[in-house]
Amino acid sequence: MIDSQVFENKKAAYYTLGCKLNYAETSTIGQQLASEGIHKVEAGEIADICIVNTCSVTDVADKKCRYLIRKIQKDHPKAFVVVTGCYAQLKPQEVASIEGVDLVLGTNQKIDILLHLRLSLSDKQGYKLAISPVKDICDFTHSCSQDYRTRSFLKVQDGCDYYCTYCTIPFARGRSRNGKIEDLVAKAVEVAASGVKEIVLTGVNIGDFGRSTDNKLIDLLIALDEVDGIERFRISSIEPNLLTDEILNFVAQSKRFAPHFHIPLQSGSDSVLTLMRRKYDTALFASKVYKIKELMPEAFIGVDVIVGVRGETEEYFEQTCSFIESLQISQLHVFTYSEREGTQALKIEHVVDVKSKQKRSKRLAILSEKKLLAFYNSQEGREKTILFEHSSDGELMFGFSDNYVKVYCPYDESFVNSLKRCVVGTYDSSVSAVSMILLPRKEEIEL
Ligand code: SF4
Repeated sequence: MIDSQVFENKKAAYYTLGCKLNYAETSTIGQQLASEGIHKVEAGEIADICIVNTCSVTDVADKKCRYLIRKIQKDHPKAFVVVTGCYAQLKPQEVASIEGVDLVLGTNQKIDILLHLRLSLSDKQGYKLAISPVKDICDFTHSCSQDYRTRSFLKVQDGCDYYCTYCTIPFARGRSRNGKIEDLVAKAVEVAASGVKEIVLTGVNIGDFGRSTDNKLIDLLIALDEVDGIERFRISSIEPNLLTDEILNFVAQSKRFAPHFHIPLQSGSDSVLTLMRRKYDTALFASKVYKIKELMPEAFIGVDVIVGVRGETEEYFEQTCSFIESLQISQLHVFTYSEREGTQALKIEHVVDVKSKQKRSKRLAILSEKKLLAFYNSQEGREKTILFEHSSDGELMFGFSDNYVKVYCPYDESFVNSLKRCVVGTYDSSVSAVSMILLPRKEEIEL
């Protein structure tokens, strides 16, 4: 029997691991629970319900989830613990067997969390697992984060049909699908009305937008570029083979899309890209970087690389290093390969030992710092408009330019969520940001 009072005076705590998509989804879950009077705990408060939105991109991610669930036991001893997300979808029994877990919800069930909570809290003898087989995961559910005053993550696409040999995401999030353009534009208008100035488009394979609605990503970008009140849109990550010249030309002349690209390379060796079953080679990747810099010379280009994937010999790794050296990119995001159950990569014989993985990861981290410094040096003395963010420590505050130059300055409440013109200064590695000189507003000069 469902008890309608079951949510009364309940408080919830939220934990998110993994990608921006997960943050958007947790935020939407929080909005759903708040609509039923279940408010978010303040720092130090004990929660009645804990929601954990998990990631399973590597075995380290799984470990972090297990550690977090144990920690929740201590922080919220009586809480009803719900675990959802990719780890829950991929290994439901393993998650359900972790002490303290009360309910495990799969990718399809995440959006109906209120129903499952009401059923479970009304009937303690009820079920512990609600999971659909991945083949049944085909509905697109909307999500948009509204926790930050400056930036919002807008989910535009979900799932993936690529099946790269090292990746489990298609098994956790299902087939590629996306929202309707008119619904996403309406969501962006809503976000603008809330005072947020920047929207980051998120998804699993954003470039594949349109697969379930018979249109293309460029159609969405053109529609969003007309949304008043949003100063900037960023595309969170896009596959190189889906980053068309049409999109690049559009971003270069658009009103609101930032010259900031995040492109997964994964390896700079064509042999390894073939083993990964990636849909491009190094020549295509280099041509995209070249095109971006041709159209937007000051663009920021962040690149994902995986080290130590099966088949990556020393020779192939050297190819990766020299290829990256040759690229005019701004930063690397370096990931260490980990074996994932059910992936094709496990059939590749050549295994890279832990020591080599660590050595390769360190070498690329150093290369990344070099690229970032070169990028920041190229920005020194340039005039930029910075969108300042709320600061947690109240000492320093940070903000970003459209081309992702991170600046810092002493905390000033009046700067939060506001745009300020400044001259970019020098890079300070202790805060991983550059100093700046504030410029008077244009209208002040004209007076
Ligand atoms: S494109 Fe490849 S790496 Fe990215 S989510 Fe899809 S299968 Fe995984």
